[in-house]
Amino acid sequence: VKMSGKGEIAVYDAAFEQGRLHRLEIEQQIGEGLAKRQFDVFYQPVVDANTRAIVAVEALIRWPRRPAGPIDTQQVIEIAELTGQIHPLGLFVLDRACREILSWDNVKLSVNVSPAQFRDPGFERQILHVLEQTKFPPHRLQLEITEGYLLTHPENAIRAIKAFKAMGISIALDDFGTGFTSIHYLRSYGFSHVKIDKSPLAGLPHDKRATLLVTGAINLARGLDMRVVAEGVEHEEQAAILSASGCDELQGYLFGRPMPVSDILTMVTARLAP
Ligand code: C2E
Ligand code: CA
Ligand code: CA
Ligand code: CA
Repeated sequence: VKMSGKGEIAVYDAAFEQGRLHRLEIEQQIGEGLAKRQFDVFYQPVVDANTRAIVAVEALIRWPRRPAGPIDTQQVIEIAELTGQIHPLGLFVLDRACREILSWDNVKLSVNVSPAQFRDPGFERQILHVLEQTKFPPHRLQLEITEGYLLTHPENAIRAIKAFKAMGISIALDDFGTGFTSIHYLRSYGFSHVKIDKSPLAGLPHDKRATLLVTGAINLARGLDMRVVAEGVEHEEQAAILSASGCDELQGYLFGRPMPVSDILTMVTARLAP
């Protein structure tokens, strides 16, 4: 018993140590990647649920990580959040996207913001600075935030959202339906958009509970005067149900995967043509 217990502890330590080293290695690579501007920004179209015209693009970071090879975006974000590198990384994405999307007059730009960035007292000033530098119009910018931060720091979140709204920037609640945002908070935050998470969408239309969850979320958000975006739309059948249920905008592989700027430009140009 003693032996096996000792053995287990040793195995656990080794795994822990390996994880820590792996993280340190990636942290260092992220630092180099930032210095060498090795990160890419991809764009995924968001379409009007009725006309299917592209109304916005969501900026999503991609890391080709040379020479080691590409690495999963979610993992990059998680590590960057732990190390604090999310601050320069987030600003890099915003700056790059504002420059690349600048001249596409009718298309909004949606950028993801981590809770740590939103919590940073200098964040509003940094955003303003990027907008000034790039001449990107604030009314075309939307920031996406997830529920976690709202629950832990509701007063700060409300204050920051108000400040952004005063600047003309809109705020979307991301991944709605995965957390526990109360109806009361949803109402007082002042979001312009609510993005319904892709996980319940997979069950449409056959799974009754998933369908009820999605239509309930749409009705709730619309009742509070917010526009509703569904993400992760992969099939025409889902798109039809969503638009019939009152969803305003759709996003997902059905309309386009996240893609490099040259590809999304071709798409936007085609979609806006008469
Ligand atoms: P998210 O904000 O919820 O972004 C949507 C994710 O769903 C993206 O994953 C996108 O590629 C994927 N997706 C879009 N349509 C479909 C679909 O039809 N089916 C399926 N299965 N997936 C779809 P991605 O690009 O890997 O990003 C993962 C997460 O990483 C994002 O989730 C976001 O939370 C975070 N992230 C990405 N870029 C940034 C960034 O610049 N800053 C911050 N703070 N977070 C970022
Ligand atoms: Ca998002
Ligand atoms: Ca999302
Ligand atoms: Ca997400």
